Amino acid sequence: MDSISSCALAEVVARLNALYDPSWAESWDAVGLVCGDPEQPVRKILFAVDPVAVVVDEALAWGADLVVTHHPLYLRGTTSVAATTFKGRIVHRLIRGGAALYAAHTNADVADPGVSDALARAVGLAGELRPLQPAADDPRRGLGRIGDLPAPMPLREFAALAAAGLPRTAAPLRVAGDPDRTVRTIAVCGGAGDSLLGTARAAGVDVFLTADLRHHPAGEHLEAGGPALVDASHWATEWPWLADAAERLTSALAAGGITVEARVSGAVTDAWTATTTDLDPRAS
Ligand SMILES: [Zn+2]
Repeated sequence: MDSISSCALAEVVARLNALYDPSWAESWDAVGLVCGDPEQPVRKILFAVDPVAVVVDEALAWGADLVVTHHPLYLRGTTSVAATTFKGRIVHRLIRGGAALYAAHTNADVADPGVSDALARAVGLAGELRPLQPAADDPRRGLGRIGDLPAPMPLREFAALAAAGLPRTAAPLRVAGDPDRTVRTIAVCGGAGDSLLGTARAAGVDVFLTADLRHHPAGEHLEAGGPALVDASHWATEWPWLADAAERLTSALAAGGITVEARVSGAVTDAWTATTTDLDPRAS
């Protein structure tokens, strides 16, 4: 079949929905198409973690017809998209620039493969991966992943491996646990994985790597004998999924004879942009 260089947004959305079924999303989530005309042609697709101004800048400069983000723009609903708020301005700029916006969030987290599969590979896990918390209706899917390192190594080495495998952000990875303890079986969860601390402990893994861990839950987990913790930046734990999603979408479209151009945004949109080590050498 001859390939064509664009297709309707509705067709791209159908392929995305097949990869990341919206019905898998949490009830509080808001996934799918945020703006865009289902009949508009799509040739260029930009993948990014956050629907923020710098990503819109990149999308419009490149001439993207569609931006696929992990995080939704409007999570709690709105009664206005007026350009009086930063979210409204994003909607206006995208529509004026002819770009649609689509979010795959908790449905991408629990997909097989999903956000945590890409994270697991990025931090060096090899071989088979299984969900840390399997989905009730399909145990092949679920939140987080458990896998093994190719060989046992000290926690400090795994932390260095994870830091090297993840994209760089302002903040370094934080580690809790004896850096010399030997680790091999690792649980990971892209994004804020606080709620899975108990599940990781029950799974008997050596390390749990996630983002946004807080003092009390992390401290109590360690006191209870839980696995070592590695806390990375939220954005960095989800970014590895973008390339995987882009590859899966372009392959699915190519199978139907449709060629689109996909690009992964390199914009670092983590909320934390510096540490005192960067800002004031006396603090280090
Ligand atoms: Zn997230």
